[in-house]
Amino acid sequence: MNKQPLQYTVTPADPAGHYFDLVLKIPEPNRDGQVLGLPAWIPGSYMLRDFARHIIRLQAYCGKDGVEIATEKISNHEWQCAPCNGPLTIKYRVYAWDLSVRGAHFDESHAFFNGTSVFLLPLGYEQHPCLVQLNPPPHTNDWKVYTSLPEAQSREGAAKRHGFGLYEAPNYDALIDHPVEMGNPEVVSFEAFGAEHEIVFTGVLPNIDYERLIADTKKICEAQIALFEPDSHEVPFLDSADRYVFLTMVTGNDYGGLEHRSSTALMIGRHALPVIGQEPGNDYHDFLGLISHEYFHTWNVKRIKPAVFAPYQLFNENHTRLLWVFEGFTSYYDELMLWRSGAISEQTYLKRQAKVITNVWRGPGRHLQSVADSSFSTWTGLYMSNENSPNALVNYYTKGALIGLALDLYLRQESNNTYSLDDVMRLMWTRYGKTFYRGAQNQGVAEDEMPRLIREATQVDAAPFIERYVYGCDDLPLADLFKSQNIRLHWKASQKTPSMDVRTQADAEGLRLATVYNGGVAHQAGLSGGDRLVAINGLRVHDQQTFERALLTCRPEQKMPVHVFRRDELREFKVKLAPPATECHLDKVKN
Ligand code: ZN
Repeated sequence: MNKQPLQYTVTPADPAGHYFDLVLKIPEPNRDGQVLGLPAWIPGSYMLRDFARHIIRLQAYCGKDGVEIATEKISNHEWQCAPCNGPLTIKYRVYAWDLSVRGAHFDESHAFFNGTSVFLLPLGYEQHPCLVQLNPPPHTNDWKVYTSLPEAQSREGAAKRHGFGLYEAPNYDALIDHPVEMGNPEVVSFEAFGAEHEIVFTGVLPNIDYERLIADTKKICEAQIALFEPDSHEVPFLDSADRYVFLTMVTGNDYGGLEHRSSTALMIGRHALPVIGQEPGNDYHDFLGLISHEYFHTWNVKRIKPAVFAPYQLFNENHTRLLWVFEGFTSYYDELMLWRSGAISEQTYLKRQAKVITNVWRGPGRHLQSVADSSFSTWTGLYMSNENSPNALVNYYTKGALIGLALDLYLRQESNNTYSLDDVMRLMWTRYGKTFYRGAQNQGVAEDEMPRLIREATQVDAAPFIERYVYGCDDLPLADLFKSQNIRLHWKASQKTPSMDVRTQADAEGLRLATVYNGGVAHQAGLSGGDRLVAINGLRVHDQQTFERALLTCRPEQKMPVHVFRRDELREFKVKLAPPATECHLDKVKN
């Protein structure tokens, strides 16, 4: 049977009220009463967000004459329509005031949306093709459209590149995987191995050094393409789009991204962008790391997937124990690719790795939870982090990245440098990823499959390694593994400040304890995460600098009065300070 397309119309209707108006036409609805749903979460961000709460009005009209019929909300994210012989037209309004990579946002300056925030799915129509009419806003005719969603080229009313008009997707899964930006952004483009890439910048921009940014991004993209397709240099995203799009929202101080099959949505603080005439620093390397991370997902999670994500369960939590592979390995490779591409030096790479190691080793939660469990529990764990998370959880991004690093070194060592983690990634790519959107027979990595895949790719038995470090809570043997690469891992105190064994966070009101590490001196003294620092040793503390200066007036082992506000109550604790905290260092051994 020829499947008739679902027809959506999106109009950014009210910039001051932040409303999109949507129309959905279902040519042949379920005659007994169509159910409509909006995803409860967005793939890549593992938390129930119930986007349907932003639909503020929904009406259904039956037949060619459009007689209004009843609708009823039947769950947090579903509506039941009264019976209708079709066609069925749904009109609804979506509130769009979430400036994040996960939601929708619209005002007089721009409009941005993810499909999961705006496109209702008629249940049972998951495999129907979709047409999307994108309309301009009422207040300006200057805006253009930026998205990897393909223009409906064979149809009347097809959008021209960057224009309003008709776009299309082969099914609902594709429809919600191409975010859309409308407005007047700055746009630059480049080719990586002949494939087109666009970088779109929205927001108030500094004097961006585009030449540098394009050169670095191109290098990173090409290094990744060469990893997965060393011979053909074929890019992955042409199965779903004619180009890759980086949609970048520039703000005062944000950092984050969300991966899609042929694009990514990024948020970045202005200070991280390279500015003409200035040598960029760590923040810029972090931004390149973000670009590298989301681009790597084009292979690893958007095409090579956990089998349980094929297809995604969009209306409830979709659990997997494999995020140490899909987020952890992606976090390992995002940095490795900065170095391999030449975007950062070896020395900078080792410095950045040492920082990750310090960070992971600081969290006592790593001895209580495995990365496999952290992955499975992320919906209520990592994605609902609180002040105690470092004591209770392990982060499958950071420890997962170190597992990628350790496994890579282990495979190189055990195979006498014949094989590496690259071979594992390439096997997963050819087996599962390459044909995923081209009618693949194999639909993703089974939960227990990694040891088999590693053995097949490298002939190394990594099952005991995975049992111990992925399903167990042991610390990775990084110092030993680094020796084989002539790199020395050691710990030393980087400054003389005595430690309170806490993590602090500055905000407009001053400095608060973000985390009190279990077993540390602040914990023993009775301090708590969330306590707001007032004074140490009688000296006022209101930011990181005054905190460190106050600590410098104390000696380790000395008992110091620490005053904090807990809620509105002033409390005093006596803290016996610890010696300065140590940090990991990675040094190349001359040989
Ligand atoms: Zn990621």
